Amino acid sequence: SDKQKRAVAELVEDFTVTPEMLKAIKTNFIESMGKGLERDGETLAMVTSYVMGRLDGSEVGSYLALDVGGTNLRVVSVHLNGGGQIATRQTKYRINENLKVGDAKSLFDFMAVCVDSFLDEHQIVVRGDSQIELGFTFSFPVLQTSINRGTLITWTKGFNASGMVGKDPVAFLQDAFNRRHLPVRVAALVNDTVGTLLAHAYNHPETCMGIILGTGCNGAYIEKMSNITKWKGETPAEEMIINMEFGAFDKERVVLPLTMFDNKMDRKSVNPNKQILEKMIAGMYLGEITRNVLLNLIDRRLLFEGNVSADLNQMWTFETAYMSTIEADNSPTLHATRKILESTLSFSSTTLNDRQVVKLIVELVGKRAARLSAAALAGILEHTGAWQQKAAIGIDGSLFEYYPSFDTDIMDGLEEVFGPEVRKNVSLGLAQDGSGVGAALCALLASKYS
Ligand code: ADP
Repeated sequence: SDKQKRAVAELVEDFTVTPEMLKAIKTNFIESMGKGLERDGETLAMVTSYVMGRLDGSEVGSYLALDVGGTNLRVVSVHLNGGGQIATRQTKYRINENLKVGDAKSLFDFMAVCVDSFLDEHQIVVRGDSQIELGFTFSFPVLQTSINRGTLITWTKGFNASGMVGKDPVAFLQDAFNRRHLPVRVAALVNDTVGTLLAHAYNHPETCMGIILGTGCNGAYIEKMSNITKWKGETPAEEMIINMEFGAFDKERVVLPLTMFDNKMDRKSVNPNKQILEKMIAGMYLGEITRNVLLNLIDRRLLFEGNVSADLNQMWTFETAYMSTIEADNSPTLHATRKILESTLSFSSTTLNDRQVVKLIVELVGKRAARLSAAALAGILEHTGAWQQKAAIGIDGSLFEYYPSFDTDIMDGLEEVFGPEVRKNVSLGLAQDGSGVGAALCALLASKYS
């Protein structure tokens, strides 16, 4: 109907990031970076990671890594064999929702239980008084005070365990290990972005950035010490990795094109008014934004004849993974889309027109996420000048890995900012296991500079 066409046209308008908007966001992003490098407490935390020095792939040793901060908790054993050769073994454990929002001690005791059972399972034995060094990937905003010390600034991504903000997660973890008499020492506190950068660098020395596009979104890059004007510590190296915490970008809401659907989702989240950029980009949120748009059209009787399914009425039921499937559905009848709507979300029937509208909305929300990611990456590339040389960007996360055209949409955005030569210089690569291998490399670098 005409009414539906007008509604859709309005959505296109609201969700489109034009090249001009992308550049304006990029410019504002660079200003935010500058402020965060000057002092603590700015919108972009620009956390000094204490990770200095570069890798050359010759590093050797055996380490443990513990990865907390997403859907699963992972324990990984990492053997660096030199020559860029790595062997890893890992086990995943599901983090119960109650643990995420319970008391902190229970959460950290659970981590120790997982490490304990991992050591058993893989028959890792420690002789005498020696200890295994562990890199702890704790993917939340932490104000780092040394390579293995820091304080939690705020929880994100649905975690909200009590009594942790302002405290040191390493101390909590080491205490939990000690309570169980585990021969494990937390040698490094690692943000997943920093781990991703290091893991990618082990095989791609020209790596300048580590990016996460998964449950949440964030990035780390290599900065010149002389640009980190807030740094008061020693300067044994010329560069340090900065964990940007860029999911918090535009707290002031001056530049991001927020819609009423974003605001509705934000209000219902566990951290309203925080992580504004993350909520427009990351996997945890895209499905929910899409759901809000669908409900709006349904309530105006412009979709599914005004009928909603009980499933779609529930918050968070429209998974971001469905969006990947719907984006990839190029069948004439949109049968994969139909399957999601009718089998998974229990709509009794859908028309082709319904499914076409759903697909279009999914594409709008997905493309906006990719183009906002491009604005952030362009900001970092312009600030560092890295785009003018060969530069590798390591990216981890299911959103980047599985969402169709996320990478090409990002590249198109970068080209709008820098022109066609950026395609020759800058590569986006899937950097898996940043929180395993990367954390191990971080534990290794920790001993170099302490
Ligand atoms: P994490 O970031 O938690 O370590 P992932 O990188 O696997 O782990 O990201 C999980 C997030 O990715 C979830 O929010 C989920 O919605 C999203 N996701 C999972 N599968 C897909 C998919 N096929 N396409 C797009 N997003 C996905």
